[in-house]
Amino acid sequence: MIPIIRKLLLTFFVLLIGLIAVILYRAATISQPPIDVDPVEHAEIDSSSVVDRFSEALTYRTISPQEPEDFEPEVFLSFIDFVEDSYPNLHESLERELINDYSLLYTWEGSDPDKDPVMLIGHYDVVPVEPGTEDDWSYPAWDGTIAEGFFWGRGAIDDKSGVISTFEAIEHLIEEGFEPERTIMLGIGHDEEIGGLEGARKIAETLKERDIQIKYLIDEGMPIAEQIMEGIDSPVAMIGVAEKGYLSLRLNVRQSGGHSSMPANETSISILSDAINNIRQNPMDGDFSDLLRQTFRPITPELPFAERMVLSNIWLFSGLIESQFSNIPYINAALRTTFAPTIFDSGVKENVIPQSASAIANFRIHPMDDVESVKDHVRRKVDDDRVTVEEMPRARNPSPVTDYESEQYRILQTAIQEAFPDMPVAPIFFLAATDSRHYHDLTDHVFRFRPIRATPADQTRIHGTDERIGVSNYLEMIQFQIRLLKNSSQTD
Ligand SMILES: [Zn+2]
Repeated sequence: MIPIIRKLLLTFFVLLIGLIAVILYRAATISQPPIDVDPVEHAEIDSSSVVDRFSEALTYRTISPQEPEDFEPEVFLSFIDFVEDSYPNLHESLERELINDYSLLYTWEGSDPDKDPVMLIGHYDVVPVEPGTEDDWSYPAWDGTIAEGFFWGRGAIDDKSGVISTFEAIEHLIEEGFEPERTIMLGIGHDEEIGGLEGARKIAETLKERDIQIKYLIDEGMPIAEQIMEGIDSPVAMIGVAEKGYLSLRLNVRQSGGHSSMPANETSISILSDAINNIRQNPMDGDFSDLLRQTFRPITPELPFAERMVLSNIWLFSGLIESQFSNIPYINAALRTTFAPTIFDSGVKENVIPQSASAIANFRIHPMDDVESVKDHVRRKVDDDRVTVEEMPRARNPSPVTDYESEQYRILQTAIQEAFPDMPVAPIFFLAATDSRHYHDLTDHVFRFRPIRATPADQTRIHGTDERIGVSNYLEMIQFQIRLLKNSSQTD
């Protein structure tokens, strides 16, 4: 063999062995992110009265209706009265402002005016129970029933547990004699389920007028995910560090129609179908950046070796991940901007070729894209002048991504691990939308998290039948809120 070829082969061989060694080493040594949080004593709370109050909170039908005229102001006002009666210390020590009559802005003045406030937000409105499904519930949706170790009722998860557990934590801290160094603000919206325009947006505008900058903000969002995959036993607290944007595009085609006995080769319907198909076959690029690795890191050590090898070497296997995981809807949704054709409209008669065809496609925009880049992508892939692409109202860019190596993230992570010892914590994209999007002018640090234990099967309970939260889980939420408030107050 010619020496130079032998030398090349040898080099190649050494590199290959080296590469395999790196892959195996990374797979073998990937570990849980270290947890270095000292254990703390849990606060002593009077659980029976805490449980009674939350059960009662679930009986208020604070429904955000689809039609504005169905809004029932007296229900919202009686809920506000209930909160005032239930938390006397809180209403004595914090300033309360009613924003737009029904939303609540509380300020707990800190002793150190140099520290930017921290803000905790949530909402007390809920979605209706779908008419006709009332009897599908194991326990009635509006009775606040406690059974089988759970609170049952609309709002148990979304988001009365978040709101009421925060009130409980503050009431407890005041009883304990705690005084915050940093100002703590609460923003409790009354219309999150229909966009938060009258509640959260107005609260945020009020704070902006006052020139207030917030150190960080925590809203509802991701849960403590349990049984994420087969074989993964340990729960993971997922912190939403960004949320996706929203865009609907209408695609229109106009052609001469005619009788279907002598069709042209292409018709408005076939041109439109091809356009939709081209978009479907050419998804936008997936994101294989560090965030994906961090999202999977807590579960990677528990995966079977093959999966572990892939996920601990994302730098090499992004193509494989792409082909294997893009078929799983929730992973695909976390990886990229998704596309879903939702309306297809054409034709009036079975033997007439229609002159026009239109379709609406809905996109949920990954933070690495934006409204304009999605529109560009669609035009490029359709690549047909006969198809016009029109943006529909309510388009929204994705949120900025909060730095998950920041001090603010660490404060939240510490509070989680104090309340839930040894719980791994991971950053992730939140796939839905929350009130937090109205606050981006006030802070760079927005987190979407509630310590609600949820399995994939619980997904259908949110906005669905049999919404519930474990009684012991609710008590854990209060412990978490207490840790969060204490830690938030004292850090620099
Ligand atoms: Zn919600």
